[in-house]
Amino acid sequence: MRDLRPAGWDIKTYRDKPSLQPEELFLEKIGSPVWEKEYRAAGLRQISAKTRRYVYERDGHMCRRCGVSAGEAYPDDVSAHARLTLGHVNPHKSGSGSHAEDLITECARCNETVKHLTGTQMTKGQVWDRVKELPARHKRDLLVWMKADCRPLSEAEKAWGMYRQLPAVVREELERDLEALMRS
Ligand SMILES: [Zn+2]
Repeated sequence: MRDLRPAGWDIKTYRDKPSLQPEELFLEKIGSPVWEKEYRAAGLRQISAKTRRYVYERDGHMCRRCGVSAGEAYPDDVSAHARLTLGHVNPHKSGSGSHAEDLITECARCNETVKHLTGTQMTKGQVWDRVKELPARHKRDLLVWMKADCRPLSEAEKAWGMYRQLPAVVREELERDLEALMRS
């Protein structure tokens, strides 16, 4: 199914269509014939290892939707640690390709939420209460992120994403080095 959706197949699950049972699927629209040779590359998500590496590096090894980095705990659920994956920039547009510009680094949780547009435990009111209390500067930042549907990374955040890739002992060394550098 994951291979059919990018090829324009619109298959609904109970998450999209409340009338369906969890084990039922509903075929809304037939897409490209992915079993034909000329459609195979577009339909199957053949993302090369090189593209994968490039996208993770470009995105600073952080989820571009929520900003969590690999292995980091979620601010609202410290028991869950983020696992990064690749998603389509626009998952609901059919025929999304497997080129770096069509792809975005996402954590597994955002990947699921973006795909199904559900999985949210928050209410609009809860989020709005938080949003309206933000200082004007943060409101402006947030609006830019909302419009882009992703959060641009600062240089410090990119460095943080790289730092998180290091083993724990090396991270401790680096922390001490930075402390020493800033004291000197
Ligand atoms: Zn995320």
